[in-house]
Amino acid sequence: MSTPTSILERYPAYRVDIGIEVHVQLTTQSKIFCTCPTFKTDIPNAHICSICAGYPGTLPVLNKKVVEYAVMAGLATNCSISQQSTFARKHYFYPDLPKGYQITQSWPPICTQGWVEIKTADGSLKKIRIMRIHMEEDAGKNIHASTHESFVDLNRAGTPLLEIVTEPDISSTHEARAYLKELHTIVRYLGICSGNMEEGAFRADTNISVRKKDAEKLGTKVELKILIHSNSLPMLLNMKLNVR
Ligand SMILES: [Zn+2]
Repeated sequence: MSTPTSILERYPAYRVDIGIEVHVQLTTQSKIFCTCPTFKTDIPNAHICSICAGYPGTLPVLNKKVVEYAVMAGLATNCSISQQSTFARKHYFYPDLPKGYQITQSWPPICTQGWVEIKTADGSLKKIRIMRIHMEEDAGKNIHASTHESFVDLNRAGTPLLEIVTEPDISSTHEARAYLKELHTIVRYLGICSGNMEEGAFRADTNISVRKKDAEKLGTKVELKILIHSNSLPMLLNMKLNVR
């Protein structure tokens, strides 16, 4: 069987620029803004309270451990740690988002301007710049039982996440894989994430653009969501890039 190759090898005049956003689910014992436990249960809506279920008039209280874990991730990826950091509301409607908005960070996030070093295909070292790391809450889950029936389970709502965002410094699928493996190793070593991809504890979205090799400006960005999820790390290895 022949080894799958990137379509870019057939278009030597082009290069690819990839930025990766990884959602890291933190291993704190309680949720980010309430004391509900984060451990898994098969009983739907067993780990919810008035805060993570989005009742009116409730006030979120930040989990100190989430901040500590965010700072640990920032220091391990050579980031600057913001002395002052704020939360923001990202409004959208979805049944598994009981408040109608997600609490996340806009600017300034907790960590900025870091880097992770990877080994490229030719064995040389390359720094992948980290644009930002921010703290946010996860949404719940919709379960579509049949074409007529859907259920909402809010056990996951309010689970703490870090979003780790790179600059578009990644130039091949090899580098993308090397970066994700390195980041996966870092968060597992720190003990801030189980790294369990089957449970969605480490999941990646990619921003990909293609341009002529001599072009200075990046090409049009295309976002591929939840690429690394449930056992699919090898998918990225064989990822095909469309050239227009
Ligand atoms: Zn709660």
